[in-house]
Amino acid sequence: MTPDADAAPGRLGIIQDLANSYDDVRGRDELADAAAASAWLSRQGLLPEGAQLSSGEFGLLRRLRATIRDLCLANSGCEGHPEDLALLNDVVRQAGVHPSLERDGQPTLAVDTPSGLGSSGRLVAIVFEALWGGTWVRLKACPGEACNYAFYDRTRNNSRTWCTMARCGSRAKMRAYRARRRTSQRSTQ
Ligand SMILES: [Zn+2]
Repeated sequence: MTPDADAAPGRLGIIQDLANSYDDVRGRDELADAAAASAWLSRQGLLPEGAQLSSGEFGLLRRLRATIRDLCLANSGCEGHPEDLALLNDVVRQAGVHPSLERDGQPTLAVDTPSGLGSSGRLVAIVFEALWGGTWVRLKACPGEACNYAFYDRTRNNSRTWCTMARCGSRAKMRAYRARRRTSQRSTQ
């Protein structure tokens, strides 16, 4: 469970849950197989109850999760991968994600594809909404070794990097300190 202080607002919370559906620390994977992944999507309201992902749809969802984790790391200042953006564009095309007007005249991204492919399309639509709404840059993943915990940065200037200073931040600082010390010892020898 994500602590309230770290939880992303609205539907972006679903993307955060997707990123955290693999727990690096405990090695626990909520999307371990197609059945588990189908149940996860149904709980999020993205796939009809009882529907099952095909193996291709399951593979796509796993790739989409890896991509979203990469993009959250990029939001924390890590290097991005252009192929991640290409995958989002691919899902948009394959799942037929398209702009649509609601009855009240509000623009939204709609997905008519009912299958598991449609559920990946709905996930990508949420990412686009967050990009347009300005909340995306605040969904970050901790770059700590074997961590990657996804959190929503609520600091005023969007400056948070670590899950917690105690768990990952201070360890990274200690590693950087040791590396600097090794370098300076070499240069004085
Ligand atoms: Zn961490």
